[in-house]
Amino acid sequence: MKYRALLFDWSGTLVDDLPPTLYATNAVLAEYEVPAMSREEFRARFRLPYPEFYEEVLPGVAVADLEDDFRAAFRESPEGVTVLPHAREMLEWCRKQKIRCFVLSSMDVGIFTEQARAFGLLDYFEAIYAGVIDKRDLIGKIMKTHELDLPTTAFLGDMAHDIVTAQHGGIDSLALATGYDPVERLLKNNPSYLFDDLEKVRQWLDPSTPLQI
Ligand SMILES: [Mg+2]
Repeated sequence: MKYRALLFDWSGTLVDDLPPTLYATNAVLAEYEVPAMSREEFRARFRLPYPEFYEEVLPGVAVADLEDDFRAAFRESPEGVTVLPHAREMLEWCRKQKIRCFVLSSMDVGIFTEQARAFGLLDYFEAIYAGVIDKRDLIGKIMKTHELDLPTTAFLGDMAHDIVTAQHGGIDSLALATGYDPVERLLKNNPSYLFDDLEKVRQWLDPSTPLQI
């Protein structure tokens, strides 16, 4: 098998939380009388590390002051979070292949844990790194802590920041078109590979298993 360890981003990679994230972002903007964003505008402007995005849309406002409002609005969102198609199957396949799985996410630790537990996905991961503002700061430490081997480890994510984090850590980046960043932005950052979804990743890693439709 090409990889012995996979690091997964959470939002847009394993779950779809774009509707509640947009709802919560607009709730925060409304507090400061900034007009709401459409889904398209949000996808075009949102980026990680997220303090950069907030500095652009709400200049001079401390991110720490926004986080409680964001969390509260996220929980009140009429549209909830869903597990992305093929995510559970991918994690199950990794378990069978004894591929070690980790989470590296900017998602708030509390919200992440609630979601992962509710979806029954928590047990698939050897270790979880959530609430990470700049993933580049942690990738080296994760590799070292878990004695991960550079050539057999990859980071799967849906945003440019995930690609640059993988590059920073010296590992492959598997970019996914199921999340926040448009494909053009992913390609501009030169991912090692780009996939339509997780089923395509699994199929690529294990061509002997039939494609699930
Ligand atoms: Mg993501």
